[in-house]
Amino acid sequence: MNTFPQQATLTSAHVTGPLPGPGSAELLAHQELNESNARTYPRHLPIAIAEGSGAFVRDVDDNVFIDFLAGAGVLSLGHSHPELVEVVAAQLRRLSHGLDFPTPAKDAFMTAQLSMLPWGLADRMKIHFCGPTGANAVDAAVKLCKTATGRADIVCFQGAFHGSSTVGMALTGLVEQKQPVANGMPGVHFFQYSYCAQCPLGLHPETCSTNCVLFLEHSLKDPLGGIPLPAAVIMEMVQGEGGVVPATAEFARTVRRVTRELGIPLIIDEIQTGCGRTGTWFAFEQYGIEPDVIVASKALSGIGLPVALIIYNKDLDRWLPGAHTGTFRGNQLAFAAGAAAVEIIRRDDVLGNVRSRGAQIALLLAPLAGNAWVREVRGRGLMWGIEFADPETGRPAGELARAVQRNALDLGLILECGGRDDCVVRLLPPLNITEEIVHTACGLLLAAIAEQSSIADQRAIAGHRTTTGAAR
Ligand code: PLP
Repeated sequence: MNTFPQQATLTSAHVTGPLPGPGSAELLAHQELNESNARTYPRHLPIAIAEGSGAFVRDVDDNVFIDFLAGAGVLSLGHSHPELVEVVAAQLRRLSHGLDFPTPAKDAFMTAQLSMLPWGLADRMKIHFCGPTGANAVDAAVKLCKTATGRADIVCFQGAFHGSSTVGMALTGLVEQKQPVANGMPGVHFFQYSYCAQCPLGLHPETCSTNCVLFLEHSLKDPLGGIPLPAAVIMEMVQGEGGVVPATAEFARTVRRVTRELGIPLIIDEIQTGCGRTGTWFAFEQYGIEPDVIVASKALSGIGLPVALIIYNKDLDRWLPGAHTGTFRGNQLAFAAGAAAVEIIRRDDVLGNVRSRGAQIALLLAPLAGNAWVREVRGRGLMWGIEFADPETGRPAGELARAVQRNALDLGLILECGGRDDCVVRLLPPLNITEEIVHTACGLLLAAIAEQSSIADQRAIAGHRTTTGAAR
C-alpha cells in the first residue's frame, strides 16, 4: 500500500446527521442572501467547509468527507500539503507579487514546467504567464493564434468547456450558459467530438472509423465548406466538464494531421487534464501528438494557488510588448509552490500512483457493467466518469446522477456531476490519494449507486422516469 509523507489531520470520513447540519445551513442561508445567483457547487453539495487536509474536508458541523472533487481538480497534492504550506509561508515572507518581472521563484517554476515536457519539445516552446484563471489563458491562446495567423475563425468541439470568460464561453458547448449572453465571439465553429457512447451518427465505436473527424476534415478542405481557414483549432484530450469523454486516438491524431496539413495552430486545453491528472504530465503525450499551444492552469501550483499560462511554439510569437497583460500574472506563492510540487511529484512517483489508482478504480467500478442504468464507466488516470442513462429510452439520467451525488455526500463522499444534463458522476481525487482511501470511496460510491438505481427502478415501474433530455 502506498503512503505519502503528509501529516493529514483528517483521516476518515464520518457524517453524523442530516445535511446540511445547523452550522452549514446558517452559512448557506447567509450566502444565498449575499452572493450571486450564479453560485454553483453548494447547490448540490450543501455544506460549508471549515478545513481541508489531504483527501478530506471537514464541514463546520464536524462532518468529515472524502474529497473526490479536490477543488475541481486543482488540489493535485490534496488540501494543505504540509511541505507546500512551508514553501508558501517562506515565500510569503520574501515576496508575494511580482507583476511580470523575473524573480528566482518564477525562474524555478518556469524551469520545472519546461522540464516536464516531452523530450525535445521544451526547446521549441516559450511560456506566457496569463491572468490567474484558466479562461484568461484560453483567451491568451486564441489571441496569440489570431495574431500569428492574421485569421479570425476558431474551430472547437461539441461538449467542450473552455471557461466562463466571453471567449471561453463562446468556445464552450454549454448552450444554457451561453444563451443569455448574446454574440459572445463571432467566427466560432463547433464540430462533433469523439463521444462514442452517444454517437449522434448512430455508429458503433468498434466498426466506425471516426467519421466525425472525417467530416471536420472534409469541411475544412472543401472550397464550398463555408468556413474560412481558421486561426486555431482548440481541443481537450479528455472533455472534463463535458462528462469525462476521452478523445479516441484516431480522432486526436486525425485532428493533428489535418491541422498540420492546413497550417492551423492546434491549441490543446490541458487546464483540467494537465499536471499529471491522466497519468502523464500532459494528456496529449498519450496520443503521440504535439500541440502548437498548450493551455495549463488548475493544478500548476499543486495547492490551489491561482496561476495560468500558455506554452507555445516560438514560431507563433508575433506578439508586441503588452499584447496580453494582467496585474495578477506574478503570483510568487503559486510559483514557489508549483516548483516544489513538481519536485514532490517526481520524488514520490505521483504519476505512477495516478496510473495505479486509476487501474484500481477501473477494477472497483467494473461491477457497474451489470447495472442497467449505467451506460458507460470511463476515465484516464484519476479522471473518471460514470454515465447514467434510462435503460428503456436511452435518455441521459441526470436526475439519477444527481441523486447518486447527494446520496454519496450523505455517506461522506464529495463528487461532482457533468456531461449532458449532468448525467455523469465525476471522480477527481487528489493525485497522491492512497489505495485505502480509493477503496473506501469506491465502496461508498457503489452503495450510493445501488440504492439510487433501485429507487429509479421502482419509479420507472410506477411510471416516473428519472430522465431528462433527448433520446439518442
Ligand atoms: N478549460 C477547461 C478544460 C476547464 O476544465 C476549465 C475549468 O474547469 C477551464 C478551461 C476554465 O478554467 P477557470 O475556471 O480557471 O477559468
